[in-house]
Order: sequence, then C-alpha cells, then structure tokens
Amino acid sequence: MIKTVQSALAAAALAVGLATPTLAADDTAMTREIAPGVYSYTSGGHYHSMFVVTDEGVAAFETVNSKHASGMLDAIRTVTDQQVTYALHTHNHWDHASGGGVMQEAGAETVMHRFAAEWLAANPGRDTATPDIVWEGARRDIALGDVTIEAHYLGLNHGLGMTVFVIPERRVAYIADLVTPNRVMFSIVPDFNIKEWERSLGDILDLDFDVAVCSHNHLPADEAMNGCTKTHVSEERAFIRDLRNAIFAEFEKGTPPSDIPTTVALPQYAHWDRYDDWLSLNAQRVLLDIWMGPYPWVPGQ
Ligand SMILES: [Zn+2]
Repeated sequence: MIKTVQSALAAAALAVGLATPTLAADDTAMTREIAPGVYSYTSGGHYHSMFVVTDEGVAAFETVNSKHASGMLDAIRTVTDQQVTYALHTHNHWDHASGGGVMQEAGAETVMHRFAAEWLAANPGRDTATPDIVWEGARRDIALGDVTIEAHYLGLNHGLGMTVFVIPERRVAYIADLVTPNRVMFSIVPDFNIKEWERSLGDILDLDFDVAVCSHNHLPADEAMNGCTKTHVSEERAFIRDLRNAIFAEFEKGTPPSDIPTTVALPQYAHWDRYDDWLSLNAQRVLLDIWMGPYPWVPGQ
C-alpha cells in the first residue's frame, strides 16, 4: 500500500515537474529537505528521523533501530560527504533508542539524557547501545559548525529523559512521541503522564522553531515528509483537553464510568487516524488518570 502510494506520488510529481522525495535503495525510505541543510528521513513511514548538515559535520536525530539508522546513513551520504558527528536520542524507549551502534561504527558520538541512559543501562534492549555522551539537567547546547543543537529536557511527560531538540539557526526542532499529527493518542497512552504532557506541549510552543520533524506523523505520506508545526502541537494539546472535557460531560449526564470509554465521542476528530479503534482506549486511560491521579510519576524529575 505504502509502495503504491509512493509510486503514485512520485509519478504524479514527475508528471507535473515537482520536486519529488529522494527514494533510497529501500524504496519505502524517503528523504526531504525541510529547511536549509535540514532533512526529514523515514525508513518506511512509521518512524521519522531528522539530520542536519553543517560544514563541520552532520547531526542525526533518532536512530530508531539498526535498519533505520543504516538507511539514514545511506540518505545522509546521498546529500553530503560530511562525517556524522553526533547521533542524538530523544528518550529511553527501545523502539526509538535502538540502533545507536550503527552511528557509533560510522564514527558518531551518541547523546542521551541521564534519565534515559540509566533506564537503558538497567533495561538494555537487543539493539540498544551505551551512549557516548550522557547529559543531565534541563538544557545542554552542543555546537556543530554554524549551528547550536539545543537539547531541552522539559521534565516528566513521556518515558524518561525525553528531550526536544531545537536548532534555532535553521528554525527547526525534533519532537518524539509528544506530538503526532492527524492521529488520536497512542493506543492505551503508555508511559505518558498526561498532566505533565499537556504542560510540556505548552513549553514546546514557547521554543524557537517554525517546523519540526515529529517521530510519528499520520498526515498523508508525502505531506508528512514536510514535518509538523506548532499548529500540530496546539492540536495535540486541544485533543487531550477535549477528550477529558467529553469524559466530564459523560459524568454530568450520569453515564456509568465503565460505559464511558465506549460512549464518549469526539466527532470533530473523526477524520484522525485510529479514531475508530483507539478513542475508547484513550478514554479508558484518561478516565483512570482522573480516578487514580496522574501516573507514571517519579521523584526528582
Ligand atoms: Zn516513547
């Protein structure tokens, strides 16, 4: 299906003379320049990474896994001969933080927040690697060529050590898991502290960027390659609030709590991906949060 869509898009783009995404050897992979020297990369549509090219090296954001990281290296080599200097991880989850070894073998140093690194040391995945640079606190700036890579730890929200990266000189950011355009919340909303997630979305709106690569993006495949914007950050926050308000409205109507997940409706989001099968899971999770208090929570974050 994805292949068909991409082939059709490529054919349509060629037919009207538009720039078409670069198709790598794996023809489900796509790369697109979204700002000067800044590229979005996907190995097959489910995970989006980003790389930034400077005169003194390349910074790659989110290795995902070894196959994805290898594909991103191929994509980097189609646009520059520069060495990959840094590979930056956003958070601890295996499905994002794997594949660092591929970048280390290519000569890059991998970078991760201490909270994520400690979790991965205690819970190594089959494809995870020990990071070369572990940082802590709320902010670390890394200089590379003419740019500054700002690493922002916004506090607890999803997973551990979740970092949002901003490159102010190019007006871009990289955001994992906290913002997913055109899709309801992820399944049972695992490992999200919803209250802190909402706060963090507000913090992201205050960061200095115009366009970001969101690790998951459910806009049409071609559009998703252009990344996400602060509009999508606002929409994510609005969805959380609208779902909670809809649950409270069911309380007001006297709907039994056990019936609320399958009763609640948000027709204004019916066009979003996974609305039909995940809205009830999202509602169940928010309901539990209202019932039990925010979780997960750990001291000292
Ligand atoms: Zn995650």
